[in-house]
Amino acid sequence: MKVAVFSTKVYDRKFLSDANSPTQHELVFFEPRLNRDTAILAAGFPAVCVFVHDQVDAPTLELLASRGTRLVVLRCAGFNNVDLQAAADLGITVVRVPAYSPYGVAEHAVGLILSLNRKIHRAYNRVREGNFSLDGLLGFNLHERTVGIVGTGKIGLILAQIMKGFGCHIVAYDVYRNPELEALGGKYVELPELFANSDIISLHCPLIPETHHLINAEAIEQIKPGVMLINTSRGALIDTQAVIEGLKSGKIGYLGVDVYEQESELFFEDLSGAIIQDDIFQRLTTFPNVLITGHQAFFTAEALHNIAETTFANIADVEQGRSCANEIRAQVSA
Ligand code: NAD
Repeated sequence: MKVAVFSTKVYDRKFLSDANSPTQHELVFFEPRLNRDTAILAAGFPAVCVFVHDQVDAPTLELLASRGTRLVVLRCAGFNNVDLQAAADLGITVVRVPAYSPYGVAEHAVGLILSLNRKIHRAYNRVREGNFSLDGLLGFNLHERTVGIVGTGKIGLILAQIMKGFGCHIVAYDVYRNPELEALGGKYVELPELFANSDIISLHCPLIPETHHLINAEAIEQIKPGVMLINTSRGALIDTQAVIEGLKSGKIGYLGVDVYEQESELFFEDLSGAIIQDDIFQRLTTFPNVLITGHQAFFTAEALHNIAETTFANIADVEQGRSCANEIRAQVSA
């Protein structure tokens, strides 16, 4: 199949080309993101392949459909950037890669926890400057601390398993209970109880209307003072302005994020020579107890390999008329 592959970096091209050698699809790589302005590039392509920051909204889908596209292949799990109802109305099938890096993301969350706690990001710079003072580097033992996990699917469960190994207590909130979490000794509680009792809160639920700004001023009121907040899920789970106020007051003791609400303006690009216009993001970077990474939690060799393999398996299913387990459809309201 002829596939227009958007938002491609050197590493995407390598892993996708390697995985495509047995299937020999005709891949055309485009560096720009897919949006209303760039949709024209996909004219005549029956399939487009996109990632987290491509804007697959209704006008873009209409432009794609009018020029022959029938399949949108996501190289990611989250699909909050796709208008599924518009896709269904236009007869466009949407498929995704539901799990490609649950260990990578959970391990990255642990990396943020350890770095923030023991101030490794600060110690790295100090030692390079010949400053061996320990002032300001005091940490705490993870052993016996309580970790609150919001969303206990694939990634949340793995994080629970790892933190259990550190000797932490696990409390969790999810709309569905995961028996594997309970078998581990994790306890499901309502959100206010999780907020009140957790030393570390880590977010692993999807971004949907119910979870938008899950961490807002009201939630911050309920949290244990000095909490460590970790978000490797989606930026808009957090009201960043409210979190900045929480950091300024000391209510939030540590913030580790791999995602940011307005990240599509920033992440995955080298802006080191540019003046960053996002004052909220810039304020976040001034706190010594904030650690930000640029949506790299998924970024392991295993993940890129899995993404490429699943992407081509999805295309093959649709091309050969088989039902595809990774197809996503708009929710039908009752
Ligand atoms: P998953 O579908 O396996 O688990 C998500 C869990 O969230 C499910 O158990 C679900 O029941 C729960 N959930 C749904 N609605 C909820 C609500 N209102 N409140 C609490 N929990 C709710 O997904 P996963 O593979 O564990 O991924 C979790 C998130 O991680 C994804 O949604 C994605 O946004 C993010 N992610 C980030 C990266 C990265 O590189 N930073 C990579 C992959 C995934």
